Amino acid sequence: MTFDDLGLSAELLRAVREEGYSTPTPVQEKSIPVVLEGHDILAGAQTGTGKTAGFTLPMLQLMQKEHPERHHRRPIRALVLTPTRELAAQVQESIETYGRHLSLRSTVVFGGVGINPQIQKLQRGVDILVATPGRLLDLVGQRKCDLRHVEFFVLDEADRMLDMGFIHDIRKVLKLLPQKRQNLLFSATFSEEIKKLASGFLRSPVYVEV
Ligand code: AMP
Repeated sequence: MTFDDLGLSAELLRAVREEGYSTPTPVQEKSIPVVLEGHDILAGAQTGTGKTAGFTLPMLQLMQKEHPERHHRRPIRALVLTPTRELAAQVQESIETYGRHLSLRSTVVFGGVGINPQIQKLQRGVDILVATPGRLLDLVGQRKCDLRHVEFFVLDEADRMLDMGFIHDIRKVLKLLPQKRQNLLFSATFSEEIKKLASGFLRSPVYVEV
């Protein structure tokens, strides 16, 4: 299996090549085609498996199809929630890397740093927002962040999110999203609590196990 077999666009394949990746990892092989088909996924994958490219590449491709200039103002069309600021920053960096030949904009917001620079970046308009839950809800509360146009929702490292006590924040965020959207959930482990959360918002998910 090569990256060319996964149905990715020339722009994304070019970025992957420039990163020096020759073959997709198992989680990429399984998740990329399924996400491209528009399915929700429930994926069991740890850090280091290449899961970030596994959700970023197909999501970028689906977003690229609908040209951003179509919108008068760029609404946030993809939201990626992560448990920590380090992971949020890493994921956004990956999105920038894999999307470098596309015209999509992304930014990252997390707590523990000043909120104003984040507000300014949001006001310039972004297609993809990577966030930790608390700061995201702060920004929504200040009406600086509108999640009503989100088409893709990614919950990354869901088990760590629950361990860190983010369940209520996640539920609040879910209430702010439109009904019609594609959901991708990644978790290293599957407790009853994760299963309950997942079954509450994933729609006929495809299970991806590696
Ligand atoms: P992740 O599990 O998403 O945090 O990725 C772990 C590391 O693997 C990152 O440093 C990626 O740049 C790298 N990586 C992701 N996909 C591939 C691939 N197909 N081939 C080689 N390295 C990869």
